[in-house]
Amino acid sequence: MIEQRFDAIVVGAGPSGNAAAYTMATAGLKVLQLERGEYPGSKNVQGAILYASALEKIIPDFRDDAPLERHVIEQRLWTMDDASHVGVHYRSSDFNEERPNRYTILRAQFDKWFSRRVRDAGAILLCETTVTELLRDPAGRVIGVRTDRDGGTAFADIVVLGEGVNGLVGQRSGLRPELKPDNVALAVKEMHFLPRETIESRFNLKQDEGVVIEAMGTITAGMTGTAFLYTNQESISIGIGCLVSDFAENQQTPYGLLEAFKNHPSIKPLLENAECKEYVAHLIPEGGYNAIPELYGDGWIVVGDAGQFVNAVHREGSNLAMTTGRIAGETIVALKQRHQAMSKANLAEYRRRLDETFVMKDLKKYRKIPAFLHRNKQIFGLYPKLFAGAAQTWLRVDGIDKRTKEKEILKSFRKGRTLPGLIGDAFNFARSWR
Ligand SMILES: Cc1cc2nc3c(=O)[nH]c(=O)nc-3n(C[C@H](O)[C@H](O)[C@H](O)COP(=O)(O)OP(=O)(O)OC[C@H]3O[C@@H](n4cnc5c(N)ncnc54)[C@H](O)[C@@H]3O)c2cc1C
Repeated sequence: MIEQRFDAIVVGAGPSGNAAAYTMATAGLKVLQLERGEYPGSKNVQGAILYASALEKIIPDFRDDAPLERHVIEQRLWTMDDASHVGVHYRSSDFNEERPNRYTILRAQFDKWFSRRVRDAGAILLCETTVTELLRDPAGRVIGVRTDRDGGTAFADIVVLGEGVNGLVGQRSGLRPELKPDNVALAVKEMHFLPRETIESRFNLKQDEGVVIEAMGTITAGMTGTAFLYTNQESISIGIGCLVSDFAENQQTPYGLLEAFKNHPSIKPLLENAECKEYVAHLIPEGGYNAIPELYGDGWIVVGDAGQFVNAVHREGSNLAMTTGRIAGETIVALKQRHQAMSKANLAEYRRRLDETFVMKDLKKYRKIPAFLHRNKQIFGLYPKLFAGAAQTWLRVDGIDKRTKEKEILKSFRKGRTLPGLIGDAFNFARSWR
C-alpha cells in the first residue's frame, strides 16, 4: 500500500484518532491514518455537543475556523411521563463568554475540519481503507496492519486503535473481549431542519446561542436510556438510546421510541413544520470504568470509544475520546524522544498519565452507576410518573385544600411501598455517586 515505514499508524479518523494523529504529527512523527469511511465523519454519529476544553488542549485556536453551530447557554433536564415533563433548567448569560465552554456541532463537518488540521500537521490520511487485522512479529509484538486494499499492508512502531465502540480489529485480534449487550446502548438520531429565525424564537435564543434538552422517563418504555434534543444553526438534532440488552428483552424498537418521543406533547411543538433529512443509528459504550479493556500492549494502544471511554451520566464521549487520543499521542512522542521501545512495559506510562486526568477520575467516581441504573428500572418508569403526577396534583388549583393534596401525593408515593423504595434508591444512588 505505502512502502514507507511509519512511526505510528492510527486506525480511525474520529475525535480520538484525530487527536492522537495530530499530537504525534505536530511533534514531527511520521504518521499514517487509515479511515474506512469515504471521508472523515461520513461514518460517525454524535448528538452532538463539543466540549471546548478537550479540543483547546490540542488546537488552542480552534474557534478561528472550526465549523461550530451554537454555543450552549441553557441546559434543560427533564423527567417525562407520557403527557408531561418535570424539569430543571439552567440558563446563564455567563455562557455568552469570549471562549464559550460547549458548542453544538455537526460531526460530518467537524470531523472533516479536524482531519484537515491533522493533514496540515503532516499526517498521511487514506480514506476508504478498512484495517482488517493487526500484523505481528514471531514474538507476538504488533508491527503493522493489513487493510482491504490490494497488497494493503503498512508497518509502524505502534498502532493506535481509535476505531470506535465496536472496534472489530481489536476484538478479532484478541486484544479485548466482544461488547456485552448490557455495556452498550443503541441510539438513533434524526436531523430536523427549520429556518434559523424559527429556532431562535422557539427557544428564545439570540444569534449563536443554543439550548440542549436531556430527557429520561417513560419515553424509554421502562428501559435504561435517555433522549436528547440539541439546537443547531438551522436544524434540531433529536435522538434516543437504550441498552442493547434491554431492547433484546423488550418488544421495543429504537425507531418506535424515537417516533413516540417526537410526538410527545412537550417535544412536538418544538419540531413543528421541520423537515427531517437524516436518520442514523449508532452504538454508545455505557459500561463505564468496569468495562475498560486492556489499553496497551507490545506495539498497540487503544483510545476513545474503543476503550469504552464514555461518561454516560454526563453525556460526555467526544471529549474523553480527544483526551485519550492526545494522551496516547503524547506518551508515544515521549517514548520516541527518549529512544524507548513501544513495549507494553513502557506504554504503561499511558495509563499512568490517564489516571491523572478527569477521564479516569470521573469514570472511577461513577463506576457503580451503570450497574445501578441497569438494575433499577423504576428510575425510568415509576418515579417519573410519580413526580409528574405529584406536580400536577400540586399545581392544579381546583378548590381542594393543600393538606388534602399533600396527603394524596404521599398516598401515591406510599402505594406498593414506593416511598421507602425511593428513599432507599436515592441513598444508594448517592452512595454510587461518591
Ligand atoms: C447518538 C449519539 C450521541 C452522542 N452525543 C454525544 C455528545 O453530544 N457529546 C459527546 O461528547 N459525545 C457524544 N457521543 C459519543 C461520541 O460520539 C463518541 O464518544 C466519539 O465519537 C468517540 O470518538 P472515537 O474517535 O473514539 O470513535 P468514532 O467517532 O466512532 O470514530 C471511529 C472511526 O474509526 C473508523 N473505523 C472503524 N473501524 C475501522 C477500521 N477497521 N479501519 C479503518 N477505520 C475504521 C470509523 O469509520 C470512524 O470514523 C454520542 C454518541 C452517539 C451515538
